[in-house]
Amino acid sequence: MKQTFEFTKIDEAGRVLIKKNIRKMLDIKPGDSFQVFIDKGNLVLSPAKPCCCICSGRKNLVLIGEKYICQSCKKQITEN
Ligand SMILES: [Zn+2]
Repeated sequence: MKQTFEFTKIDEAGRVLIKKNIRKMLDIKPGDSFQVFIDKGNLVLSPAKPCCCICSGRKNLVLIGEKYICQSCKKQITEN
């Protein structure tokens, strides 16, 4: 997954807007839950739903053992 840099602001109520392009990229929908933590001085929002263990994508996931993999990565692995 490519690196994405965006600027956003926090409002008086502590809310931060996650812009549409990032929500779409990570398949984030209203009502989704996140783990919020601090890592080396960075605030991290980690969607509390499964993602591909290779590309971190969240679309078209297949459960293999205890890990999720997306159809795109699965295809790349099986073709090589
Ligand atoms: Zn993947």
